[in-house]
Amino acid sequence: MNEYDSNRIYDLVSTIGFTKTKIKNEANCFILNTCHIREKATEKVYDEIGRVKKDFKNLKKPLVIISGCVAQAESEEMMKREPYIDMVIGPQSYHKINDLILNYQRKKERFNETEFDVIKKFDELQKVSNSQSKISSYLTIQEGCDKFCHFCVVPYTRGPEYSRPIKQIIDEANILVENGAKEIILLGQNVNAYNFYEKNKNYRLSSIIRELNDIKKLKRIRFTTSHPKDMTEDLINCYKDCKKLMPFLHLPIQSGSNHILKSMNRKHDKEYYISVIEKLKKINREIKISSDFIVGYPGESKNDFMDTVKLIEKVGFINSYSFIFSPRPGTPASDKKLNGTTENLQRLKEIQRILENFQIKNNEKYLNQFCEVLIENKVNSGEKFFGRTRYMTPVIFESEKCNLGEIVDVKITSFNQKNLFGIHKTNTYKAA
Ligand code: SAM
Ligand code: SF4
Repeated sequence: MNEYDSNRIYDLVSTIGFTKTKIKNEANCFILNTCHIREKATEKVYDEIGRVKKDFKNLKKPLVIISGCVAQAESEEMMKREPYIDMVIGPQSYHKINDLILNYQRKKERFNETEFDVIKKFDELQKVSNSQSKISSYLTIQEGCDKFCHFCVVPYTRGPEYSRPIKQIIDEANILVENGAKEIILLGQNVNAYNFYEKNKNYRLSSIIRELNDIKKLKRIRFTTSHPKDMTEDLINCYKDCKKLMPFLHLPIQSGSNHILKSMNRKHDKEYYISVIEKLKKINREIKISSDFIVGYPGESKNDFMDTVKLIEKVGFINSYSFIFSPRPGTPASDKKLNGTTENLQRLKEIQRILENFQIKNNEKYLNQFCEVLIENKVNSGEKFFGRTRYMTPVIFESEKCNLGEIVDVKITSFNQKNLFGIHKTNTYKAA
């Protein structure tokens, strides 16, 4: 979501004359768009400011703006601790950035703007076209969260759940497609909690997917991140008949232990999670799943951890993220007694080894097979191409002739844990 936000911030500031530069010392403004989901985020911000200070020691001081969730969570503290920061802007206030910059240029007053003004934000953003012209583009449809998992800072930094009006979303999707997008990834902290009412009609994520499925030039649809509780029947049914919806779902469970899930306030148990996956696979046998796992949550016993390992082995996730629990200030889990660091690290290594094995085994299946790849970029100074399979796996391949934005059949000739490598020849292969 920060990538989407950073692009939109750029769309805004470009209307008052800013352009991007790759030459750091040439910049007269730095905007650090920050994430607060795990520890060290704040320290990373101060480290980056330290680097800017050093680079600009003998130059005119640039305008330094901190945006995103660290800004939201630590605004006053940041302004006090680092006088080099000129402005702090929360993730729901960045539509005001131009006024704040112009005001700063006039008055030289430091500013802290961390209101939750999300409706206004998207109304304002709608006035500035989304200029992203990437083959695979992000589109935020929902923000914030009302679920309050005990470890998570999102409900405090992004605020309550908000769903954008469906018309705004479809208009933005059409602009992205006109700009060259072939794939749209719908975003939200809880994207499948999308819920919008207008004229007595209720629109859900499934309504958006069905509308996008009808956009002619769009080839692929994805969404992230989903909560198991919000995998409703209408959404599951999209996997039956929306051909452009990719058969790959990121569905975080966090832990395979019901005791830990309860203590995390996840509002689902592992049986429920497995029943959702079974429903999905019944509707579409091709569906594969990835997840997020937190290890070392306060009170996680060896047995709890083993329950997570068993769940991973049962489901066979093709790609997942795993983290050691990181206490976030202000969340209910932050003052619980922490598990031992060495033990946590061991568990993380163990879980990552198992997850990586599943990833490797999944990649191995493609060897000498053909994969449908949406081409996103050129790599190696234009000699090779980069794209992704229907399951998001990166593919680097050679081709005699192909164009960015095309879907081609690539024969896989080798692989590693994260990537597939292959070759594409025109009119020779058929995707398996
Ligand atoms: N809304 C999604 C869900 O409920 O499954 C997750 C979104 S959260 C922004 C992204 C991931 O960060 C979570 O799935 C979780 O694994 C991880 N995460 C969040 N807070 C964390 C914490 N305090 N420590 C470690 N990992 C954390
Ligand atoms: Fe955070 Fe996701 Fe839980 Fe919301 S549902 S509090 S975003 S982990």
